[in-house]
Amino acid sequence: MALIVQKFGGTSVANPERIKNVARRVAKYRAQGDQVVVVVSAMSGVTDGLIKLAKDITALPSEREMDMLLATGEQQTIALAAIALHALGLQAVSLTGAQAGIVTDGVHTKAKIRNITPKQVHSLLDAGNVVIVAGFQGQTSEGQITTLGRGGSDLTAIALAAALKADLCQIYTDVDGVYTADPRLVPGAKKLSEIAYDEMLELAGSGAKVMQLRSVEFAKKFNVIFEVRSSLNDNPGTIVKEETNSMEDVVVRGVSLDKNQAKITLFSVPDQPGRAARIFRALSDAAINVDMIVQNVSHDGGVRATDLSFTVDKPDLLKASTVIEGLKAEVGFKESVADEQIGKLSIVGVGMRSHSGVAAKMFDVLAHEGVNIGMISTSEIKISVVIALAQGEQAMKALHEAFIE
Ligand code: ADP
Ligand code: ASP
Ligand code: MG
Repeated sequence: MALIVQKFGGTSVANPERIKNVARRVAKYRAQGDQVVVVVSAMSGVTDGLIKLAKDITALPSEREMDMLLATGEQQTIALAAIALHALGLQAVSLTGAQAGIVTDGVHTKAKIRNITPKQVHSLLDAGNVVIVAGFQGQTSEGQITTLGRGGSDLTAIALAAALKADLCQIYTDVDGVYTADPRLVPGAKKLSEIAYDEMLELAGSGAKVMQLRSVEFAKKFNVIFEVRSSLNDNPGTIVKEETNSMEDVVVRGVSLDKNQAKITLFSVPDQPGRAARIFRALSDAAINVDMIVQNVSHDGGVRATDLSFTVDKPDLLKASTVIEGLKAEVGFKESVADEQIGKLSIVGVGMRSHSGVAAKMFDVLAHEGVNIGMISTSEIKISVVIALAQGEQAMKALHEAFIE
């Protein structure tokens, strides 16, 4: 008998038929005698629909109220999933994140999990129930409802698997596993049988939304081995785990394109100590994640000044622009300009550590495609460039062809 955590994403619970399908899959595992904890997302489109409702009222809604609103999406699915299991004659109980003991910090809309005390989950499992937990949500120690950032049901599943010391963690989605690129954008993409945590981390941080970034960080930290697989068939999926020696043989494991970034450029920032600190402190205080940063040195009327560009997640752009404009007089820059028409294109692989010439080849391929590079950043196992959004998919296919096919 194993304890299994199974997570089903939005498309896997998109309608009553799909929810019944989930129930049938869970029933199969129960019939083998396994204990099952199910984590579900909101039905596909529901979270986006709720966000749109709020944005139709005001551009910058209260983040506390957004959490209150968005948490309802997952709450619908847990009840429907429990009802579907009851219809098959199984014992099942649904729990909100708070009822499952998920305690977070108070950063609304992107809260971090502080601890999990799954007492209720354990006692319900022991009493013979399938326990269905609402993904993406938790509660502060003061009882405020929080959410864990978009795609956060992945994190709920991984964190519960760690807290429950589950034997197996399965992430069911609408593709067969993790591919060398988004199979919807790159027809030649191939399914990977396994991938290292660090590679999955870099891909998730570069726009491959198949796994939420923070869920992979959590899995790595607590060594939760998990499988990404399809809820629509029984094909083996992709195992995400610690790196093994043979993984270094492959130079580029995957290619990704992040269309969800925006760039802000501050022109003529006085080149003096403390200015960058002031800017990025203010963004951090507003809980805005900054990804790439580029600074150029220039001269401006005899006074040394620099242009500073950085990228943020698109949904944070309005908030970030508001914070930046509020600093204009204090920091003394001339103007700030936002650009949403960018894409971040990345190649990732642990093999880059031991192979040279990878960046040169990447830039050659982009030059051949007539793609201009706006920003560059690298890690030991990743190279990312910011390019025009309109060229993103074409450039991604070219890189995939050059490095993988
Ligand atoms: P869920 O609702 O199940 O959480 P998501 O939509 O969040 O599913 O993630 C699955 C999607 O991720 C796929 O439909 C696919 O288009 C996209 N995706 C992006 N990059 C990759 C990749 N490298 N491998 C597999 N899927 C990817
Ligand atoms: N429903 C949330 C979202 O759409 C969480 C998730 O699907 O994982 O982002
Ligand atoms: Mg997802």
